[in-house]
Amino acid sequence: MPLDLDQRKLFGLEYWVKHWYRYGLCFDRYSRLLQQTAAFSPQALQAFQNQHLKRMVGAAYRDIPYYRDLFSDLKLKPEAIQTAADLTKLPYLTKELVVANFDKLVSVKKRNFLCKVAKTSGTTGSPAQFIRSFNSINFENAAVWRQWKTGGDQGGKRRITLRGEVVVPMSQSKPPFWRFNPANQELLMCGFHLNENTFEAYLQKIMAFQPQILSSYPSNAYALAKYFRQHKISYRFDAVFTSSETLSPGVRQFIEETFQTRVYDWYGQAERVAAIGHCPKGTYHIQEDYSLVELSPMGQNFEIVGTHLFNEVMPLIRYKTGDLVKANPEQSCDCGSHFRTVASIDGRSCDYILTPEGYRISAANHIFHGVENVLEGQLYQDNRDCLIIKVVAASGFTEHDRAELIRNARENTSERMKIVVEEVDHIRRAPNGKFQSIVSRLPLDHNGPPETLASPA
Ligand SMILES: [Zn+2]
Repeated sequence: MPLDLDQRKLFGLEYWVKHWYRYGLCFDRYSRLLQQTAAFSPQALQAFQNQHLKRMVGAAYRDIPYYRDLFSDLKLKPEAIQTAADLTKLPYLTKELVVANFDKLVSVKKRNFLCKVAKTSGTTGSPAQFIRSFNSINFENAAVWRQWKTGGDQGGKRRITLRGEVVVPMSQSKPPFWRFNPANQELLMCGFHLNENTFEAYLQKIMAFQPQILSSYPSNAYALAKYFRQHKISYRFDAVFTSSETLSPGVRQFIEETFQTRVYDWYGQAERVAAIGHCPKGTYHIQEDYSLVELSPMGQNFEIVGTHLFNEVMPLIRYKTGDLVKANPEQSCDCGSHFRTVASIDGRSCDYILTPEGYRISAANHIFHGVENVLEGQLYQDNRDCLIIKVVAASGFTEHDRAELIRNARENTSERMKIVVEEVDHIRRAPNGKFQSIVSRLPLDHNGPPETLASPA
């Protein structure tokens, strides 16, 4: 299990530690800064970006061996990078390069005990790790809070979350399927346990708690909305905040109509090199003060390439996220923001695993967490009673690793499911070239317009 549930029960201690970490010492300062920059003119924004870009490139050259070598190979000095346009003098950075050069990409001088390591699982190509400075964690949280304020939550609203976290053990079949986080005053509900049989319990809890905000994966918010409609129950949220999966227009409309509110979607990634969020007009805006984003043409779409402006411990410059956006023909938005707009984000696969009990598992990370010798991994399902874990194994892959994968999968999915580990030479990419961590051939009900959706799982 990724979480030590017994420890978490102790006075919500983990929640308070997390809370302290996220809000840290610089949260207020960054929040004030981001309130100002949100109102900047295009010229002021450009000046802001260039100022921080120069600082970041200077720090990278000074403290990061990888960049010192790179600049030296290119016969460049950091002064050559004065503006965003100058970035094209440098090559792209990829996840493969980060994996191969990890030690050389971290500032030995700046790294301290407050830094956190973020790992991408083995499910998205080669696993990589990234170091986040304490300040950059505060900054991220300030950026997310600005988005929530845009959606009308100035803090203090009652909130339920339905995300990809296992809140209570998967083997638990009776409520409560939730836990209260006293640090954030939020009710963490387990998205995996929500189904036709458990909905009544969820509903009672929600009605007793009277939440004003729903913070959720799109697939979970959609599932919840579907049950409210089926049971003909009317409920209004002040706002729904979604993130971490692709939000399709049909799902968005369904959630908005059901809960008589607006959905504010947010795009980010473990590397934290780019963020995109909905404004009150429902337009996606690139958060121009969060990082420096280049849109690199790829077919009819654009790949998001990002450069850190606020992480001096492990600055990523021109990092290719692999996530795609569609251009917005309208370009501008009448919400008043001068941040660039995009029409849609085609980031992550929103397939999920369906268990025999009807649970929907949309996060594959837990299954590969801590398992050695897996180069790439993908969850595949074409039969509801069976889960296939496809792995491209490294030479040291053993029966122990295989057993570990099955154990992790069992804990995070279902006791009743058959779980098979299948070694493969290569994992096929999606037609758009993207790696998919979950592929399902079952008729999933989250992509089409609501009226054509299949019957509930
Ligand atoms: Zn707007």
